[in-house]
Amino acid sequence: MMESENGSLVGENESEDAVAVGAVDHERIARAVREILFAVGENPDREGLLETPARVARMYAEMFSGLHLEPRKHLQKFFTEEYDEIVLIRDISFCSMCEHHLLPFVGKAHVGYAPNGKVIGLSKLARVVEEVSRRPQVQERMTEEIAKMLVDELGAKGVAVVVEATHSCMTMRGIRKPGSLCVTSAMKGLFRANQSSRSEMMQLIYGDRR
Ligand SMILES: [Zn+2]
Repeated sequence: MMESENGSLVGENESEDAVAVGAVDHERIARAVREILFAVGENPDREGLLETPARVARMYAEMFSGLHLEPRKHLQKFFTEEYDEIVLIRDISFCSMCEHHLLPFVGKAHVGYAPNGKVIGLSKLARVVEEVSRRPQVQERMTEEIAKMLVDELGAKGVAVVVEATHSCMTMRGIRKPGSLCVTSAMKGLFRANQSSRSEMMQLIYGDRR
């Protein structure tokens, strides 16, 4: 394993999408969950809870699978194309885990760019969102990470990432505001510098629905 620049662990030789075998220690998670059940005053040995630690371990392995993947690689296979208008995939659904409470935040990402000769397969943008979200995350960082990756790998003239999500840690506990939506955006290049390009992008993302 090696440490990537953002501090996540990256498998050195995992296959296309598979998580490195042994990357997640299921046993250890299960032991910890059993401890939590004791700590809250439950009896982990009662029938209904017997399978829970192992089940939670499998769930965490899935929710955090992105820690062992390198989303950047999806942007490294590109086509050379003279298309220089906006490419946008909107409504990419995702489910991430807030790193402050380990509670899910669920929403949609809109990812767009203005190519500079390099165009990627459309599904790749969704894959990047998927893998970046399957980690302990903060929405602001996730938004910025996706945008930076596109700038770095595609050298795009402009990149726009807008993420909107509902955070369980705000709706279920603490301030308890169901229905509140957190919106974050990262605008790079053209979409930062040029007001009309930014407006065009926002119009494509939200045009007919706001
Ligand atoms: Zn939280």
